[in-house]
Amino acid sequence: MDKLWAGARPELEALVGTNNYVTWLAPLSLRAIEGGAADISCPTRFLSDWVSRHYSRPIIDALSRQGAAVERVSFTVATGRPATAIPAAASPAPSAQAARARAPQRDDEMSAPLDARYTFDNFVVGKPNELAHAAARRVAEGGPVTFNPLFLYGGVGLGKTHLMHAIACERRARDPEARVLYLSAEQFMYRFVQALRERTVMDFKEMFRTVDLLMVDDVQFIAGKESTQEEFFHTFNALVDQGKQIIISADRAPGEIKDLEDRIKSRLSCGLIVDLHPTDYELRLSILQSKTDQFRQTYPGLQLGQGVLEFLAHRITSNVRVLEGALQRLFAFASLMGREIDLDMTQECLADILRASDRKVSVEEIQRKVAEHYNIRLSDLVGPKRVRTLARPRQIAMYLAKQMTSRSLPEIGRRFGGRDHTTIMHGVRKIEELCAEDHGLAEDVQLLRRALEA
Ligand code: ADP
Ligand code: MG
Repeated sequence: MDKLWAGARPELEALVGTNNYVTWLAPLSLRAIEGGAADISCPTRFLSDWVSRHYSRPIIDALSRQGAAVERVSFTVATGRPATAIPAAASPAPSAQAARARAPQRDDEMSAPLDARYTFDNFVVGKPNELAHAAARRVAEGGPVTFNPLFLYGGVGLGKTHLMHAIACERRARDPEARVLYLSAEQFMYRFVQALRERTVMDFKEMFRTVDLLMVDDVQFIAGKESTQEEFFHTFNALVDQGKQIIISADRAPGEIKDLEDRIKSRLSCGLIVDLHPTDYELRLSILQSKTDQFRQTYPGLQLGQGVLEFLAHRITSNVRVLEGALQRLFAFASLMGREIDLDMTQECLADILRASDRKVSVEEIQRKVAEHYNIRLSDLVGPKRVRTLARPRQIAMYLAKQMTSRSLPEIGRRFGGRDHTTIMHGVRKIEELCAEDHGLAEDVQLLRRALEA
C-alpha cells in the first residue's frame, strides 16, 4: 500500500497543484483497497470531510493510473494527535518538508502566550467571582462537556483573562495531549485576515476545527466585523458539533453586544453564562493581602500597615488592575525612599489614582440608588413634580452627582429631566446647608455615598 501511495503522490500533486496537495493531501496515507474502495487514513475529521468533498475524484484517478482498481474512496480518521499522525517524515516526496511546515501548527505555537502568574493558585476567590471561578475550575478539569460555551463576562480588570489563562494552564498540565488554543478575538481576526491574504484559509479552518479547547478572549471585539463574525460562527458550530469545549469572554452579556449578529448572540447564550461582578470590599482586601505577600518577596523588609490596605480597598474600587498598580507603585516608592509605607505616604504617592477612582460613579447610578433609598420611582426623581417627598431626594441626588462625578452643572441638569444649571446649583447648596444642621440627613447622604462607592 505504501508503495502504491508513494507512486500516486506525484500524480496527485500534478492533478491538484502543489499548494492544495501540501495543504490537504500530503497528510493522508493509504490503508487498504478493498472491493473497489480505497481506504484513506486521515489525521482529522475536518480534513477527511474536506478531502472527501473536494478531492475524491483526483485520488481515484491517481490510484487508477497506478494500476489499482478503485471506484470509491472512504476515510478513516486516525486516532491520536493530528500533528503527530501526519506522516511527513515517512513521505519520500520532495514536498515533505513543505508539508511539515504548512501542516496545521501545534496549539502551543498558535496559542497566544500565557502569563505564568495567571494561575488558579493566584486567583483570589470572593463572593463576586466565586461562580465564575467554580465554572472555570470545572472546565479546566476536562471531562464531559456539560455547558458549551462557557461565557464569562464582566467589566475590565475583574479577572476574565486571568481565569482563562488559568484554565489553559491547568488543562495542559492535566492532559498534555489536549489541544488547547487561547487567543483574543482580535488575534482571531488578525489571523483570519492574514489567512485570506495569503490564501491559507483552509489551513486556518483546519487549525481551529481540530482543537479540544478553544478560548476566545474579549469577543466583543468582532462586533461589526462581518466576515470575521461569519468565520467565527462556523468555527464555533463545528467545534460544538464535535463536542469540543469553547470558552468565550466579553465585557458584557451576549445579548448586550451591539453589532453582533443575532444568530451568534443566541449561539453564545446556549451554554453557561456567568458574570464577574464588580469587586466588593472584602475581595479587594484579600486580593491586596495576597499581592502584598508576593511583593514582599521582591521588596523584603518593606512594611505596609494593615490600615493602608484597608484604605486602598475602600478607595480604589474600579478594578483589580488599578489596585495592583497602586500597590506596585507604593512598594517601589517605599524602597526608593527607604521609608515605611504609612497612610500619609500612600495618599501622597497615589494622589492621581485616588482622584481618578473617585470619579467613577455615573449620574444615572446615583439617581437609581437615591430613588431606591427613598422608595420613589426613578421617573419621579427626575420628573417635574415638586412635592417635598420628591424634591428633597432629588436635591440629594443632584448634590451627590456634583460631588461624586466630574459632570458640569449643565450636564447634570440635562440628566435631571432637562433642568437648568441654576436649579442644580440651588439644589446642591440646599443640601450643603441642610447637612450642616440636620444630622439625620447628613447621615443619609453619607450612607448613600458609601453605598455608591462600594
Ligand atoms: P480582565 O481580563 O477581566 O480585564 P484581567 O484578568 O486582565 O482582567 O485582570 C486584571 C489584573 O487583575 C490581572 O493582573 C489579574 O491577575 C488581577 N486579578 C483580577 N482578579 C483577580 C483575583 N480574583 N485574584 C487575583 N488577581 C486578580
Ligand atoms: Mg482581559
